[in-house]
This record gives sequence, C-alpha cells and structure tokens, in this order.
Amino acid sequence: MPLTASERRLVDSAASWFDANHERFVNELCDLIRYPSVADESDPSPKPAEPYGHEVRRVFDHMIGKAGRDGFPTHDYDGHVLEVAYPQDDVETGDDIAFVGHLDVVPAGPGWTHDAFEPRVIDGDTVIGRGSLDDKGVSLVNYSLLRFFNEQGHRFRHRVRVLFGGSEEPALNDIKWFVHNVGAPHQAIVTDGPFPVNNIQKGLLDVDVALPVGKRLRGWHAGSSANTIPAVASIDLVGTDADEVRQAVDHAGLDDDTRGRITITSSDDADDGGVTITAHGISGHASKPDGTINAIALLTSVLTKSGLLDGRDAEAAAAIAGWAGDPYGGALGFAFENTESGPTTGNLGIIMPGPEFGTDAEDHAVPSDAIVMHLDIRYAVGQKSEDILAAIRRHVEPLGGRLVNVLNDDPYYVPADDFRVELLTGAYNDVIAGMAPSTPPARPVAMGGGTHARFIPGALNFGPEFHTEYVPAVDGIVMDPPECITPGTGSAHGIDEWVSIRNLKAAFVMYALGLVRLDQYLDGGN
Ligand SMILES: [Zn+2]
Repeated sequence: MPLTASERRLVDSAASWFDANHERFVNELCDLIRYPSVADESDPSPKPAEPYGHEVRRVFDHMIGKAGRDGFPTHDYDGHVLEVAYPQDDVETGDDIAFVGHLDVVPAGPGWTHDAFEPRVIDGDTVIGRGSLDDKGVSLVNYSLLRFFNEQGHRFRHRVRVLFGGSEEPALNDIKWFVHNVGAPHQAIVTDGPFPVNNIQKGLLDVDVALPVGKRLRGWHAGSSANTIPAVASIDLVGTDADEVRQAVDHAGLDDDTRGRITITSSDDADDGGVTITAHGISGHASKPDGTINAIALLTSVLTKSGLLDGRDAEAAAAIAGWAGDPYGGALGFAFENTESGPTTGNLGIIMPGPEFGTDAEDHAVPSDAIVMHLDIRYAVGQKSEDILAAIRRHVEPLGGRLVNVLNDDPYYVPADDFRVELLTGAYNDVIAGMAPSTPPARPVAMGGGTHARFIPGALNFGPEFHTEYVPAVDGIVMDPPECITPGTGSAHGIDEWVSIRNLKAAFVMYALGLVRLDQYLDGGN
C-alpha cells in the first residue's frame, strides 16, 4: 500500500532523526561491541543474575545505565532477558508489541584482521567487529526506536517494549526461559534474520541410529560435523594389502569420476599389513546439498561394489551407501517437499564407533559391535517429525538398527498471506519504494536457520539483513561486502563481521513504519 500523508511524514522524520544522531549511534554501537559478551552456560551454579556469565551481565548493566539516563523503565529478568519499555502508561490495551534481539555473540574465532572486540569504523559507515551485525547493531536500532518515538511524543495503542536476550547463540535458551517463566509477548518482532519478512523456518531433527556391523566396520569413524556434508571419509582395512584392494576397486565397475575420487594407501600404523581407502567428496552445508557428494556415501558404495566386505559389514555398507547418498531422504523413506519451504533434507554427516557414542536415551550403552550414524534432518512445513522417525525405523530395524537419540525442533511457520506478514513486508517495500522507486517488491522468505521466533508463539521475523538471495538489489543499500572486507569473510558468525550503518538506518525507518502500522491494525484497530 502507498504511504499515507502521515506515514510519509513519519518515514521522513525517522530518516532525518537517524541522520542527526548518526555519530552517537556509531559510538554507542562500538561501546556495545567492546563487551566480549559470549554467552557462557557452562557453570552449573552461576552467580545470581548471571546465568550466562559475567560478560553478558556487564553488557546488560551497560544497557540498563543507558535506559536510566534516557528515562526508560527497565526490567531485568534475572539476567536471562533484559526489557526496556516505552515510557507510556496510558495505553489502550495492556497487550504488547516487543522488538526482540540479543546482546550475546558467538566467540571471535581465529583469523580476524584486528581485535574482534575493538571495533573499526571505516568511512563513517562500515563498522567491523563481533556482533556488529548479529545482533548488537540491530539491538541498538530497536532501542533507538524508543528514543525516536519518545522525542516525537508519540502515543501507542499497545505497550511497546524492546527485549534483549542474553543467550541466543548457543541454543536460544534466553527466550525459552522467558517464554516459560514470564510468558510470550503478545506480538514479538524478532530482528535477527533477512529482510523483508522470514515466515518459514524448517523443522530440525537430529537422529542417531546404532547399526550392528562386522569386524571391518567396527571402530569406524567418518565425518566430524553434523551440519556439514562430509568432504572426506576413509577406513582402514586390516589383513589385506594395497594391491589386492586396488585390484578389487579397479574391477568394481566404477565410472572414471568416481574412481578418481578414491585413493588407496598402505596404512602406516597397521602391523599386519593394512590399507587405507579414502573417498573424496564435495562438501557443503547440510541444508543445501545440491552439487555435493557425501564422502561417506561414496566410500561405502565403493566398498560395496568392490566386494571388500562380507556378512553384516556388506549389508550395513550397502544400506549406508543408499541412505547417505540421498540428501533428500528418499532412501530412508522421508522425502517431502512443500512449495513454500522447499524440500526436506537429510545429511548423514557423522559415523562413530558405538562405545564412543556412549549411552542411548534409556541409558543403555551402545555395544561395541555397532556403529552410530548421525542424521541432520531439516524438514519442510507440513511434514511431521513422528512420520520421519517411523520411516527411519522401518528402514533400519530390518538390519538390527535402532534409534539411540532424537532431538526435535518443530518448524516455524506463519502463512505468507497472514495480514501481519503482509503488513511488515509492505513496510519494507514502501520504504524501499521511497528510496529507490524502480526496485521490484520483495516477498516473504523461507530460511534454514533458527531464530528466537521458533520459540515465541506468533512471532514474526523482520530483517535487518539485506541479502541478494532474498531481496532484489536496492540502490543505496550496501548488499555486497565493502572493499575493506576480504572476499569470503565478513559473515554474521565469521571473520571480520561487519555492518553498514546506512543499512541499519533503512532498517530503523522500516521498523518505525512497521511498528506504527502494527500498533494501529493489530487487535482490530482501524
Ligand atoms: Zn543472532
């Protein structure tokens, strides 16, 4: 919808207010980045109000100080979540609208071109530092909304507040705690993802399956990361020599590409003559298997075709080759697709010896004649986790396999034609239309990752990131990393995380418009 006259005034005054406060914004963002507020959940009996460690506590106290100087009421929920409220008592409805971000960050990690917690500001627009994008920059944008509307003397129909989580990154425990102990906001707007509006996040299902094997696969390790399609997998075979294995592989009827991906070497550490067979696949993220080759699938397939295994080993390898070789779950019977969220994916990313896995959910040790395979499944909206688990059982149980661990997070889904999704998508498009009129409109997007919205009933994800994957390029928005960022770095959790203040300003204006519209139309306003 086009902007009304008063919305036009709002958008203009929000933009010029942000410009007038640009320097303060950059300085305050740098202050926030200087707290190395990596959430620490390792202490089983943490100090009071420090459930996520001292650095998260310090950054909360910093925000409480700021809110105090601005005259905004705060509520510290025992260090799990910090609330700063819009200073207005005479609201029409006690129901609230809450902007939700987080002040914890992922660890810096190696490879930064400067101290990750000592921010650099380039040309007054690019701020580089851990948390600049995820999620301190936008947390400060949310806070700035309170300042802006307060200076305008704006009256809302709803209670408006900003929530800052203290432990989003490890496992979203801050908001889980909040929803469980305090209650969900009436309408949460989560600001930790892509623009325009993210309305779908796939379900996440982690499954470990124990599978009995024979002598050769016993003790086998492959892969190391559940959400990565393994690039390399190898196995040591004892009681054979390299020539014998090479002959078997050469006569397995492999095509040239497959044969070229297999290396065979004499094992250094085998006393009785042993051979290491290594498969070289093509790695990728578990949620995007197109163009990848799972090295575990490749290795088990070659072992099967070359007749190097027998009995239980041969059975297990043939089955794993099929299961791991289909990253869309077809071979395990749970392939599914939905046009809005795309296909279900299933990555068999890790194999480990049973004893190393330890005990199952019922505390029974996994026996030493079993291996455990880990599946990272991201399932489409409309599919049920129980159906996926039943399909896996139907395939593994005939081989003596059983599920030893299951972790499930249901999908997040708000229909694209929900009026609130349309309203916020419209706020995005209307602000963009004012900045760069020839830009085609953006549509709500699905994404693989998980945000706070998964655990807040009815929550919406509204920016603040501009990605060409999700929105048409916009003149005046920094879509590609600036020159000061080395290609291949700069992502939210990566080396040299950066944010453009110009982009945050655009987000600020969209949030101001989205908030005023939501406040007006939520709960039957008109
Ligand atoms: Zn985040």
